[in-house]
Amino acid sequence: MKRYRTERRIARCIARQNVSGYINSVWQKNWDAEGANKLHEVLPNLGEDLHRRGDGGGRKQETAMCRLRVGHTWLTQSYLLKNEEQPFCYACDSLYTVRHILIECPDFQDTRKKYFSVTDMYRLFREVNPSRIAGYLKDLGVYGKI
Ligand SMILES: [Zn+2]
Repeated sequence: MKRYRTERRIARCIARQNVSGYINSVWQKNWDAEGANKLHEVLPNLGEDLHRRGDGGGRKQETAMCRLRVGHTWLTQSYLLKNEEQPFCYACDSLYTVRHILIECPDFQDTRKKYFSVTDMYRLFREVNPSRIAGYLKDLGVYGKI
């Protein structure tokens, strides 16, 4: 009897893993099909968890990093709520996006180099300590608007 229960438990566990693996693969295929999505660069593999707790920045920094990862901040998206035109970077006249501020803007390059040197969003959220990203944004004077 005990052996039967153990075998059933193992079979249930294997079935659960197979179903979970199948569902994850379907989600991943759908995600991969959305190639133009800006979130792809930050999170190409859905199973990965980018939340890094305990970096010393506290709740405010965690919230800011989450907003930066999804590309939705007050600084860059508030125009939607205000029913205004999308803002342009005051420094270089490009569209004002999270990616532009963190990676692209040539006018912020000198400030950016003081905090990190990665050139894409994927590496930024994996290799750079969140406090360095926060420091960069504070140096630019925009951290409070994230
Ligand atoms: Zn710019």
